[in-house]
Amino acid sequence: MSYPYYFIPPYLLERLSVHPAPELSHGAAQTLLLDQQVRTERAQFAGAAIARQQRARRTVTLKRSIYDAKNGTALPGTLIRSEGKAVSGDAAADEAYDHMGTTWQMFHDVYERNSIDDAGLPLVGSVHYGKDYDNAFWNGSQMVFGDGDGRIFKRFTIALDVIAHELAHGVTASEGGLAYQNQSGALNESLSDVFGILAKQFHLRQTADQSDWLIGAGLFLPGINARGLRSMAEPGSAYDDPVLGKDPQPGHMRDYVDTEQDNGGVHINSGILNHAFYLAATELGGHAWEKAGRVWYDTLRHHRLRPDADFAEFAGLSMETAAAQGKDVAAAVRSAWRGVGVLHD
Ligand SMILES: [Zn+2]
Repeated sequence: MSYPYYFIPPYLLERLSVHPAPELSHGAAQTLLLDQQVRTERAQFAGAAIARQQRARRTVTLKRSIYDAKNGTALPGTLIRSEGKAVSGDAAADEAYDHMGTTWQMFHDVYERNSIDDAGLPLVGSVHYGKDYDNAFWNGSQMVFGDGDGRIFKRFTIALDVIAHELAHGVTASEGGLAYQNQSGALNESLSDVFGILAKQFHLRQTADQSDWLIGAGLFLPGINARGLRSMAEPGSAYDDPVLGKDPQPGHMRDYVDTEQDNGGVHINSGILNHAFYLAATELGGHAWEKAGRVWYDTLRHHRLRPDADFAEFAGLSMETAAAQGKDVAAAVRSAWRGVGVLHD
C-alpha cells in the first residue's frame, strides 16, 4: 500500500526545509514532519479507505463534499460545501469543489468512467489542512489540501491539474495499481500527470498545440523562478531557482536517473513518460483526451498490465491499444516511444 500520494516530491521539501532563511524553510519543515506522522498512520487510513469505497458502490452520480480542516490535521473536518450547494465564499473550498467536479466530468464524459473507482465513489476533499502546509495528497479515500506557506507555495487547490493528478492516483489504484517504486512507480506518477494535464485541457477546451503542458502552473508565488512543478513538453525546464534548485526531470532514456531517493525516482523519471505522451498528443493534434488520452487510459486498463510493469512493457501494451484506434494513432504512439528512447524499432 503506497498511500498517501503526495503532490510535492520529498526531495524538494527536504531541500527547502534546510534553507538557511527560516521564513523559507518553515513551511517545508512543518510539511515533512506532518507527512512523516501521516505515513505512520497509513495502515489505518488504507483500511478505512476500503470500507468507505465498499459502502459507496451503490452511488451513481457526482457527489462532492468539501470539509474545512481549520488548520488542524483531523480528517475530514467540518463540512463546508456539499453537492449542489451555493458557493461557500471560501476560495480553497470552492476551487476544490469545482476542480474535483471537472475531473469527475472528464473521466465520465470522455472515458465513460463512473468516478474514481468506476463504481460511483463520492468525492471528499478537505481544505486548510495543517499550518503552512506545502502539499496536497490522496489518502485512498479522500483528497487533502494545504494552504501553502505563503512564501514559496500558494494554496494547493489553485491548480486543476494538481487535483486531477491526485484523483488519478485513485483511478490507477482502482485499476489494479502500479507499484509505487522504480519504473512502475514512475508510470503511476506519469499517468497522474497525463490525466492532470488532460483535465486542464478539457476544462479550457484546448488543443494539444494550445496547452502549456505544465503541471502545477500557478502554484508558486511571484519571486520564485518556476513556471510550474513539471513540464511535459520540456522535462527539466519547469524551474531553476536559488531556493528550489533545478527541475531534475529527464525527457529521454539516455538521461534516466538511477536513485534510491523518491521511491527510485518516481517523480524524476516520470519526465521520460510524460514527454512520450506529449510527443504522441502533439503529433496527433486536436484534443489530446480523444486519441492519445484514450490510448493511455486503455493501456492502464489493459488486462496484461502488471503492477510491476516497466516502461517498455507499458509502451508495448500501448502499441496494442493504439492499433485499435487506427494506423495514424499507432504510428504517432510508436514514434513517441522512439522519441524518448523507450522503443528502438
Ligand atoms: Zn503523484
